[in-house]
Amino acid sequence: MLLEVRDMHLHYGKVEAVKGVSLELREGQIITLIGANGAGKSSILRAISGLQRPSSGEIRYRDKRVDRVAPDKIVDMGIVHVPEGRRLFKLMTVRENLRMGAYLNKDGSEIAEGMEKVFDLFPILREKQNQQSGRLSGGQQQMVAMGRALMARPKVLLLDEPSLGLAPKLIDEIADLIVQMRDSGLSIVLVEQNANLALTLSDHGYVMETGSIALHGPSKDLLADPEVARAYLGA
Ligand code: ATP
Repeated sequence: MLLEVRDMHLHYGKVEAVKGVSLELREGQIITLIGANGAGKSSILRAISGLQRPSSGEIRYRDKRVDRVAPDKIVDMGIVHVPEGRRLFKLMTVRENLRMGAYLNKDGSEIAEGMEKVFDLFPILREKQNQQSGRLSGGQQQMVAMGRALMARPKVLLLDEPSLGLAPKLIDEIADLIVQMRDSGLSIVLVEQNANLALTLSDHGYVMETGSIALHGPSKDLLADPEVARAYLGA
């Protein structure tokens, strides 16, 4: 198992946002967390990336406990978070934003090589590398956010709502890129409001309801499940 969350609880003050969640990510897989606003999906990603400490339970990465490890160390270990809303440095260029993703790396040639890889995956960013990132379209900004994460040479990507606010055509493009990243050897935890998209892309899905996992299984089974279709897929 590459990444494992075991019976995790997480509180904000007295509010219990995550109530005993367990999930598993195997190498080369995409797993997805779907469910309504406020169900606790982002909190789980924040806990995995060390930004929020669980109140109990365990997070294991390559069989080591990481639930007490600092966020920069987590990045160093290979787990990188692309937060909801992208959080770019909007006044900085595309190139400068990508460079920030490699802030832990001091090796100039590795950084240049990483940037070339990002440009190969997102050719439009090569064209726009000297533009202010705040001036790009939403889809391109999402590519910068994912590219910046790739600059840290992750093994695991945590993607929070990559399709949010994008036009349908761009959503398809981002979806293809997520699959390409998986095919290039990354393992991905995908949080999405767009359940249809998420289940189409992923190997395994977890349906969250108010802090708990209501249901999980192979994504193709969830897609075919009439209950899931009624409640989450707008059928
Ligand atoms: P969304 O898609 O809206 O982000 P989500 O499923 O990712 O939803 P979380 O953001 O994890 O849900 O939030 C879970 C619960 O925790 C919600 O009730 C939310 O209001 C609460 N919450 C989240 N962050 C905080 C915080 N910093 N302080 C207090 N409560 C919070």
